[in-house]
Amino acid sequence: MKKINRRSFLAAAGLTAAALALTACGGSASSTASSTASSAAVSTSAAAELTTVEAGKLTMATNATFPPYEMTTDSGEIEGIDVDTAKAIAEKLGLELQIDDMDFDAALLSVQQGKADIVMAGVTVTDERKAVMDFSDSYATGIQSIIVPEGSDITSPDDLAGKKIGTQRGTTGYIYCSDDFGDDAVVAYDDGLTAVQALKNGQVDAVVIDNAPAKEYVAANPGLVILDTSYAEEDYAIGMAKGSALEDAVNAALEELKADGTLQSIVDKYITAE
Ligand code: GLN
Repeated sequence: MKKINRRSFLAAAGLTAAALALTACGGSASSTASSTASSAAVSTSAAAELTTVEAGKLTMATNATFPPYEMTTDSGEIEGIDVDTAKAIAEKLGLELQIDDMDFDAALLSVQQGKADIVMAGVTVTDERKAVMDFSDSYATGIQSIIVPEGSDITSPDDLAGKKIGTQRGTTGYIYCSDDFGDDAVVAYDDGLTAVQALKNGQVDAVVIDNAPAKEYVAANPGLVILDTSYAEEDYAIGMAKGSALEDAVNAALEELKADGTLQSIVDKYITAE
């Protein structure tokens, strides 16, 4: 498993998603009050000149089956860490947040095709994506985790060899697994929920998916467990069109939200420390 070895394998035991999110945000905590004030001025003055897909709106493409970053409530509302963060950014830019829910791969394309201003969907920064879109500074750390049925003979990433692996289409989980185990070993589902249902039905032997939704899916589906050894560690960021004029304003707003603790309080609202 040459390719697996080049990835960062970390024992997830003891590393909670909240702790990781904290780590991701910690680097910017040193911003001073005065730099916050001046960047507030930057984002406010920038807002006056911002051109967006729809005037006065910040259009966000997402895939609302990725709890706790974005999910659909029983009453049909879309909520989550990305949604609250996008709302806070939109507010700083003087724009109204508009959410467009679609499949994950469509959400990535949406910004590239100028149909959305930003994609926030727990999107991992990769070199391949950087070739076709721009990314903000990172706002969280993600982990690719492996979900298996209790008692599975899969106990580490290497054991995925020769197995059927369920993933979400267009995600890093899909890309890594098809690189490492071949296209035939990997089944791409529309979203994480469908992949987990396929695992429960015995159509695949494991699901590789980001750790935060993995925890939620496992909590909701007795009989499934997450392996202690993770598959890869990643950075989440906000995707925009290549050369997007919004990038500086989005980064300035994000910086303020990190510095004043808003981002951490949003994470804390959705992820309970263990
Ligand atoms: N973080 C993964 C990726 O960017 C999956 C994101 C998602 O499924 N919403 O590919």
